[in-house]
Amino acid sequence: MKKPNICQTVLSVASCKAARLFLRKTGRGGTAVPGIVALKIARNILCKVTEGMQIVVVTGTNGKTTTCNMIEHALTSAGKDCLLNRSGANLLHGIASDLISNATWLGKPKCRYAVLECDEAALKQLVDYVTPKAIVVTNLFSDQVDRYGGVQNTLKEIRTGVEKSPESVLVLNADEPLSASLSLGRPNRVIYYGLESSVGVQGDVDLKDAGKCPVCGGEYTYDHHIYAHLGGYACPSCGYKRPEPDVAVTAIDGVSSSGTKASVRIGNAEHKAFISLPAVYNVYNAAACLAASKAMEIDEETAVSSLSSVRSSFGRLETFDLDGVRMQMILVKNPAGCNQAFSYVTSFDEDFTAVLCLNDRTGDGHDISWINDTDYEKLCRDPHLKKLYVGGDRAQDLNARLLEAGAREEELERITDYPALLEELKKEGRPVFLLPNYTAMMELRQAIVKATDSRDFWE
Ligand SMILES: [Zn+2]
Repeated sequence: MKKPNICQTVLSVASCKAARLFLRKTGRGGTAVPGIVALKIARNILCKVTEGMQIVVVTGTNGKTTTCNMIEHALTSAGKDCLLNRSGANLLHGIASDLISNATWLGKPKCRYAVLECDEAALKQLVDYVTPKAIVVTNLFSDQVDRYGGVQNTLKEIRTGVEKSPESVLVLNADEPLSASLSLGRPNRVIYYGLESSVGVQGDVDLKDAGKCPVCGGEYTYDHHIYAHLGGYACPSCGYKRPEPDVAVTAIDGVSSSGTKASVRIGNAEHKAFISLPAVYNVYNAAACLAASKAMEIDEETAVSSLSSVRSSFGRLETFDLDGVRMQMILVKNPAGCNQAFSYVTSFDEDFTAVLCLNDRTGDGHDISWINDTDYEKLCRDPHLKKLYVGGDRAQDLNARLLEAGAREEELERITDYPALLEELKKEGRPVFLLPNYTAMMELRQAIVKATDSRDFWE
C-alpha cells in the first residue's frame, strides 16, 4: 500500500496524539477514538508508522493478553525496545492508536519491535497495513457466539488474515486442531508448540469445538487429552494428525500458586523453565511465547529465563492485597476459560471465597447462554468454597445457574455494589478469587484500585 505524504503523516499523527492526550487528561483511558481520527485523515498511516518494525501479532480465543505480555517480556529481556498494546484495545482502531502514538511527529517508529494483541476478526484488517513477522494463534473456543457466529466462523476470519500474510511465520498450537489447521495449504513457515502426553495433565475433556478433519471431514480420535479439545488428535480415515511441536513442554515438574516448573524441548535442546504465572493454560501461553521468540530470533536461554519473571497482566491472575486479604482476579468470558479458571481455584488446600460477576454489555457479548455450558458444578463441589458472591447485570441468571449447579443458598449472596463487597471481604479475611467477565471486571477492578491504591492500567 502507498504510504501517506508528509502533510498527511504529520496531521494524522498529531491528531492521534492530541486526542489521546485529551482523553487521558479528562480521566478516560480512551483507546479507539485517537485511532479513528488518525485513520480518517490518512487511511494508510499504519504503513508509515510501522516501517522497519518487527511485529508479532497474537490472536485466538483465550490467552492473548498473557501471551502478549510474555512475548514482550522476552523481547525486552533480550534488550529489544518493544511496544505492547497494553490497554487491551485489540480492534483495528485501538491498535492504530498505540502504533501511531509510538511514532515521532514525522511518522518514524520509536520502538523497533511491537507485540500486538489482535481480535480474531480484526486480524484480516490489520494485515492490510502491517506485515507481521509472526502471527501467533493461541487457540479457538466457542466464544461470544452472537458476535462471530460460532467457532468455525472465527476460524474463517483468522484464515482470511493468514492468507493475506504469506511472509509471516505462523506460530500455532499443535494441540488445538482448529488453529493448527491454519497451516494447511499455506506457504508460510510454521512453528508449532504444544504439551506432550508425558506432562501427565488430564483436565476435563470437551470435544464440542474440535471440529472435523480439515482434509477429509472425518471424526478425530485422541490418544491423549490435555483439556477441552486440546490433545493428541488424529483422523483415522486419512491420517491427518496433530503436528509434532517444535516447542514442546515434555514435563510439568512442579505446580504452586506462584507458578509452574516445566521441562521444555526447543528443537533438540532441553530447557528447565519456571513460569511465574500458575495454571496449566499459562503453560500453553508460555510455550506460545517461546515459539514466538524463536520466530523473532531471540536467544532460547534468554526467552526461557524471562518466563520466570513475567508479571500478571490486567485481570489475568492479577493479585491484589486488600488490607491483608489476598485477592486474585481471573477474567472469564467463555466456557473453556471459565472451566480452566475453576480447575485453578479448586486446586488449593485452603478455604476461599469466590466472587462471580456477569454483565451482558457490548464488550461482553449480549448472549450469556455460555453459562449453561460452563462447569459451575466443579466450583460448587469444592469443599473449600465457603462463600459465593454473585454480581453484575445478569446476576439473577448466574444465581439460578449456580443453584442448579449445587450451590447452597445460605452460601450465596447477591452483590449490590462493589465497594460494599470489598468491605465485606475484608471482614471475612479469607483468600478471594474474583471471576468477572469483561465489563464487570472493569467496574470491579476500578473499585479495587480505589480501595488498594493499585495502578490504573494505562499509567
Ligand atoms: Zn481426515
